[in-house]
Parts: sequence; structure tokens; C-alpha cells
Amino acid sequence: MKNQPFIRGEQYSKAIPLEEFLPAYRSGVVSSWLNHLPSRPDLVISPFGDSPLEALEAAAAGYRVVVPIHNPITRFLLNRLAHKISKAELNTALVRLASSYKGKERLKPFILSLYETECPHCGRLISARSFTWSRSKGEPVRKTCLCSDCGEPSETPVSQEDLKKALTFKENSPSHARALTRVAAPNDPVRFQAEGALRTYPPRTVYALFTILNKLTGFDLTPEERINLEMLLLHAFYRCSSIKSSLILEKESGKSTDDDIFREENVWFALEEALGIWENGQNSVPVVTWPDLPPGSGGISIYPGRVRDLIPKLKGLDFGAVLMVFPKPNLSFWALSALWTGWLWGQEAAASLRNILSLQNLDWVWLTRAIKSTLSELKEILPPGVQCFGLLPNLEIAYLISVGTAACATGFTLTDIAVDPDLPQGQIICTAGEQSAAAPTTKTMKEIIRSAGFEFLKAAGEPKHTLSLYSAGLASIASEQVLLQSEEENLADIYNQLNKNFEESIAYRQGFLHFSKSETWWHQELSLSPDPHSDQVEQALVNHLVKNSSPLLEVDIYTHLYEKFPGLETPQLGLIEVCLKSYAEKTGGNQSRWVLKSSDQPSNRRQDIQEIDGILSQLGNQLGFDIKKSAPIGNILNLVWHDNGKTSYTFYISASGILNKIITVSDNPMVNCWIILPGSRAELIHYKMENNNPLAETIQNSWGLIKYRHIRRIADEGGLTKDNLRERLALDPFTSDAPQLPLI
Ligand SMILES: [Zn+2]
Repeated sequence: MKNQPFIRGEQYSKAIPLEEFLPAYRSGVVSSWLNHLPSRPDLVISPFGDSPLEALEAAAAGYRVVVPIHNPITRFLLNRLAHKISKAELNTALVRLASSYKGKERLKPFILSLYETECPHCGRLISARSFTWSRSKGEPVRKTCLCSDCGEPSETPVSQEDLKKALTFKENSPSHARALTRVAAPNDPVRFQAEGALRTYPPRTVYALFTILNKLTGFDLTPEERINLEMLLLHAFYRCSSIKSSLILEKESGKSTDDDIFREENVWFALEEALGIWENGQNSVPVVTWPDLPPGSGGISIYPGRVRDLIPKLKGLDFGAVLMVFPKPNLSFWALSALWTGWLWGQEAAASLRNILSLQNLDWVWLTRAIKSTLSELKEILPPGVQCFGLLPNLEIAYLISVGTAACATGFTLTDIAVDPDLPQGQIICTAGEQSAAAPTTKTMKEIIRSAGFEFLKAAGEPKHTLSLYSAGLASIASEQVLLQSEEENLADIYNQLNKNFEESIAYRQGFLHFSKSETWWHQELSLSPDPHSDQVEQALVNHLVKNSSPLLEVDIYTHLYEKFPGLETPQLGLIEVCLKSYAEKTGGNQSRWVLKSSDQPSNRRQDIQEIDGILSQLGNQLGFDIKKSAPIGNILNLVWHDNGKTSYTFYISASGILNKIITVSDNPMVNCWIILPGSRAELIHYKMENNNPLAETIQNSWGLIKYRHIRRIADEGGLTKDNLRERLALDPFTSDAPQLPLI
């Protein structure tokens, strides 16, 4: 492994059209990777074509990207997002639509009237924002309103009138028939899938959408107006599907939702919402259609078809880098895409999606095959040594194993793997045609996974997340080249076998201990390290903050840490965040910056430690203990109180959240051991203990943690005796400042 630093990127600050169905791309990732390549690539290929945001970012950064996009919806999205989009322009189109006629009535009031209901506050008739349906009852149960009259928001049960109104719309209406025919002819075998996708829309929604779509065909529009209205409609299609509404409900409640519930959105309000969703103040990126190539200043060439049809045409072109957002099973998006394509551009346009729709199950095995076949073909046209950067958004185990299987089985050399289970994101780099000549190992796959897991935990010195452990196993499999020989075998078997090998190797029977709450693993033959990974990260962050007196850009702090801890050592976002909050404060301004808290300036902390040392020495003397200073551990002071020659109390006074150095100092069980720390470390220590069960157990069994302030208070209050000392020390438990209690 070459240890490429992880690239965090930023979450988009603005909503993105069709967001829930797109790979969770974080801005800044691919441009940062491309900008750090040893030489600037002439052309870049993005073979999977599922992530318009990735291609757009690379093009905006001045790279020339070739991307095959088979899905007309994704193609439309990329084409539109490549242009500057103004809300005013979109609104002009919407106003034209709103004022067209449905019979004798204008379209907007007509659509709004479909959702007409009484405001629960003022009783006026208004248009509801949405209705929440119960699938089992087959009817709406609640309504959400924002009154256009009294301005009150509300969420209340539906009335008899609401019910009656909703249930007048039926699934066998002419609108439904038209909605299907626009996608596939009645005898078309994929009609079944189209029907399935259509069922994610409540009948009233289909009626409203098709009333609007009918306007689009019988309407004198300029090409720009038509495209603008298509954009607005596409958002409404997306927003109003109940698949999308369950995704939203899930996000809002933070847990997977009741399958029985879905939301019926008001189609007109969805169109209005689309204005803000599409608005985009970015500079335009040139987009051309293959075989045209983008200009030298950067841009995108879209091949409107499948990657396998494109690759043979690419021979002779000089691709210097590959960007891959690996696909995930996403059959509902494909099915909806077919529906939307038909609705917007007719049966013929939708026909291109027929193959993918006829798949029975688009699962991980299918994807592993698809990824492998793309990579194999890609290998044929790439010059040796070209780097391929792969992103695995919303990382999960099956995804990791699928991509790993495909990459290794094609003979790509996996040179880097970095994951952050908190984001959760994976990043890999592989190169084509650069296999080392090393003889394949005689070790079994299980032995490799087991020993990689063990060595990984040993090096970390603390428990690690399942995804990190599996990544370490995969990295080892790649470097031992055990999958390379298996090209003739059935890929499904390889994928399933690899899954099984992981499950059986990273397992209790092999000595691994699993802590399900933190989803971490440890090994029973390992003991806690005095210098575990998380303590090293904390130390590195503090050193960096101390060295810089002016506020540091948050993104630069992360980059610094990722460079210090690259590849499999990538620190989790949660750890960095909690360390930052403990030691630093955010300063104002557009971009997040952090500066060391004044209380954490080394000189102030030295003073604190001296002060606590003084207080404790005085207390000890008053109580008649014999006080000895043992050798400090770095900056950590160690006081031992003796009574009649026997050790009664041991105190460590520290300024950091680093505990392992202290608790691993002696193998002998110790009595009355206390660690005294600043209260501002509470959350950090809580985090460490939550993610490190052996540490939490040791602390809870043998150690007491005390805040500086508690020592000061005890001294102020007086009344201490040898008998009540222990009890008084324990009065203000350290974790009381932590956000969640109890500890474990
Ligand atoms: Zn009202």
C-alpha cells in the first residue's frame, strides 16, 4: 500500500436535484485528487457515469472528462447542472404554465384545488402541503398545511371531506393508462416494471402530473422554456414519488420509517420548490456529445450509451486518470428513470432502459460482474500505470467486498485504500497493468484476512470499526494477489466466498471480540497499547494547534491529519471533531476556522498542573500522608500518598485526554488511582471510552477521573479527613460533563 491520504471533501451546502438517488458525493474530493497527480492528465474517463457531480467538479477544475451515461435522466441532469441556472428564468416558464387554461380555469388554481382543505386554524379553504397516507388503510390519515391566509403551519388528522376528495382519484383512470403508455406499449414485457414504478405515485398525483404534462404538449413554448419546464417537472416527479417520500421521512426521523406510511406531496408546491432546487450560480461547464472532445480548458464529453459500447471507440486516446464512483444496487431509481424518461420524452426514449428494467434482481453479485466487466475492458485501453481513483459513498460491507472482488479479479493492483466509517466513505486507488512478479502466496484467504485483522488491531492499539478491519483484510488480499488467479472461476462464487471468508475469519472463534454498540472489534490476545491510534491523533492535532497561533482553516486541519495518518490509519471524523471541540474554538467568518483555546495554551496548562499539584500536596500533608513524587510520564505529574509506608492514593495530573499512557504504566493492580483532568476533556474521553470497550472497562474497574475544578472545590470547602477523602473525591464524576450518560 502506498498510503494515499483520505480526502474528506465538503457536504454540499445546497440541495441537489434528485439528491436521494445520486451517489453521496462530497464536493472537493476528485478535484483535490486530480490536482495532486504527478502529471496533469490530458483526458480523464469516468466509466460508471452515475455521479454527475463528480464529472462536473473535475471539468470545472479544468480537466477534460469523458463519461458514458446510459440513463437519459442522469444525462439530462448533468447537462442542466453544467449551466448557470437562474431562478427568474425558471420562474418565467412556471408563470406561463400557471396561467395556461385547464378548461375554463387557469392551471395553477386548478391543481391547487385538487388538494383543497379547511385550515384547522382559521377555517378558510386552502391547498394542503401534503397528506400522510396509511398503506394498509388505503387512505390519507393526516394532512400538513401552511395556511396562505392566517399563515399558521399545522399537522392534523384528515376530515371526512379530505378523505372523500382523496378517494375520488382511482388507479384505473385514463391518466394512469396514459402514464403507462408514455413509457411502454401494452404488450411490452417491461410494462410490468413500469407499473411497479407508477404504483409509487398516489392516484391524485398521477392525475395532477398528467394534467400538467398534457399542457406541455399542446403549448407553444420556446426550446428554453420547454427545457425549463422539464426541469421543474422532473423535480416534481422525484419529489412526489412515495419512494422518495419514505426516504425523506427516514431522514427527518433519523430511523427507518414505518413501511405503512408514505406522503402524498402537493404537485404544484413541488413545482414551486423546484425553482430553488435547480437554481445554480456556478459558472457554466462546456458539455459536448461524444465523439466530440471537450476543449483544452476543461469540460465534459457525454457518450449517450453504455460504457461497454464506448470503450472500444477510445483506443488511441491518452487517458491519464480514471474517476470511478462505483455503482450500488439502485433498481428503484432505474425504474423511476424509465418512467420519467417516458413521461418527458416518450416511449422511444424510455426504450433505451429496457435491458436494465428487465433484470430480475440488481444485487451485489450483479454489480460485481458489472464492475468487473467495465474494469476488464478499461484495462485494455489504459496505458500501464494510470491511476484509477475510486469512491465508495455510503460505504457498507457488501459494497466494499463487491468492489474489492471486481478490482482484484481483473488484475488491477489495489495500491491504496482509506475509509472513514463515520462519513461513511471509502476511497481506493488502483492501477492498471502494474502487477508485481511476486509468486502468489500459499496462505489461504482466511489466513490472510485473519492475520491482516490481527496486525491491524495490534498496530492501532485499540478496537477498530468493522469497515476498517475489512478494508485491512482487503488490502492484504490485494497485496498477496490471491484473487488474481481466479479469473476463470465464476465471479458470483468468488464474491460469495470472499464474504464468507471474512465472516468466518473476523469472528469470535478466531479470537476476535465484537462490540456491537460501537461496531468495533478487538482481539483477545491483544492488550491495550500505551500509545493507541486515537491518542496519537489527539497529540498530532494539539501539536498542530499549538504551533499555529492564528486560526487554521478546518479543511487544512483535516488535510494535515489525513497526511499524518494516511490509508488504513485514516482517523474517523467523530474523533477529529471531538478533539477539535475539546481543545479549540471555532472563529467566525465564511469558512470554518479553529484556534487553540486560551485555557489550553501550554503555559496555562502548566500553571493548572502546578496549581493542582500544590493543592494536592497541601491536602496530603494536612491529612498526614507521606507524599512522594514519582517520575512524570511526559507532561503528566504523578503523586503517590503513603500512609505508614503503604501506598494509599496515586494521583496523575494531566492536561490532555490521553489515558492509555497512564493506565498501562503498571501491570500490578493498583488501589485508589485517580486521574485529574480539565473538565473540557469530558466529551473526548467519553468518545474514547464508547469506542474502546477494553479502555472503558479498565477505567471503570480501577480508576477514578476527576476534574480540576473538583479538586479546587474540595480544597475550598475543607472538612476533609482520611475517612471521607475517597468518598469526597468521587462526588463529581468526570463524565457528568459529557453529553450522554451513563458511560457504558
Ligand atoms: Zn388559516
